[in-house]
Amino acid sequence: MAEPVSFVRTFRAPGRVNLIGEHTDYNLGYVLPIALNLATYVEVHRRGDGRLHLLSEQKPEELSWAVEELAGAQPRKHWSDYVIGVAQQLIRRGYSIAPCLLKIRSDVPEGSGLSSSAALEVASALALLGGRAIDKVELAKLCRAAENEFVGMPCGIMDQYVSVFGERGAAVQIDCRTLEHRVVQLPEGVSVVVVNSKVKHELGNSAYRDRVSECAMAVAAVQHWHPEVQSLRDVTLQHLADIPMPELVMRRARHIVTDTMRVELFVNAAARGNLREMGMLFVDSHRSMQHDYEITCAEVDFLAEAAMEIPGCIGARMTGGGFGGCTVNLVATEYVASFTREIVNRYSERWGIEASVFVVEAGEGAGEVRSVEPEGAGSLAG
Ligand code: ADP
Ligand code: MG
Repeated sequence: MAEPVSFVRTFRAPGRVNLIGEHTDYNLGYVLPIALNLATYVEVHRRGDGRLHLLSEQKPEELSWAVEELAGAQPRKHWSDYVIGVAQQLIRRGYSIAPCLLKIRSDVPEGSGLSSSAALEVASALALLGGRAIDKVELAKLCRAAENEFVGMPCGIMDQYVSVFGERGAAVQIDCRTLEHRVVQLPEGVSVVVVNSKVKHELGNSAYRDRVSECAMAVAAVQHWHPEVQSLRDVTLQHLADIPMPELVMRRARHIVTDTMRVELFVNAAARGNLREMGMLFVDSHRSMQHDYEITCAEVDFLAEAAMEIPGCIGARMTGGGFGGCTVNLVATEYVASFTREIVNRYSERWGIEASVFVVEAGEGAGEVRSVEPEGAGSLAG
């Protein structure tokens, strides 16, 4: 006999696109992401066999662990690390893991800079909690800790935070030091269009680690003169002009300092409805990632440059960790269809790759999908 339908619960967590402020999160600066309506869904089926089973629609194999093994499990360099890392973080915080099967499906493209990883972590955490209440900041932090410590990726908090705190119809400005945010509306008449280059250069993960340590070198250089400085969030352009450090380290720091400033400038420009300034900040941010932070690649540089030549495009920049993935474009709404055709044509003529394009609809943050109303459903606190 089939399981009663009320035993199956589904939890959803969105991917995101970051508008501006790239790699600033782990430097405790500002970021301005939008939660997508593309999301990862995890269905929880109770099991009586003492094991946690994982099955992802995108992957061939089903895996399982005895529940009591989870606390001591080791990473396998495998997609399951994202889920098992989250299970371990929950156990450390005193939450028990009940035997179950997690069935995962997702419409967030993997490895495209739209944060399928955080969507998987947050949806899995909610599924493993099974409706037990948790503070929302704590949820974001434990998912980030899973990615840092178990997956081994030294990412900041942005992806997990916006997956939890996303707002329908708006962007979210996150202060990555205080872990507070505010909701930011974009002006009428402008659409956010994501173009996926469909390339991902292998360099990405090791370069990410290099950037994290180059930023730490810049902080150490500034601390020598200003011991109160804790992170690049506290560093100014004047510091970078005055304090000796290797040229490469200075450029890395300059990207972080200026991109954090650009988040605030962008939010102010959006409040004034100044599309021209918003667009210029996008272009400046792209150039800063290209020349100072050196995290772009020829394909996304092409996409960002070509976009600016297409009627209706206000601004274009790479979004996400870098070395491929997506660009994010501000496009006057009446030009979206012609912009889409033109950017796809130009990219395929130059690179022979069919880019995929979508117009962003800001979705809400993670939660339970209430298609069947279960009894005693828990809620997120905080
Ligand atoms: P991004 O977060 O930008 O999509 P990452 O490299 O950080 O890129 O994370 C992608 C990885 O997350 C995939 O390689 C895979 O291991 C894991 N992942 C994401 N979504 C799923 C899914 N639905 N099923 C299984 N693994 C997934
Ligand atoms: Mg990721």
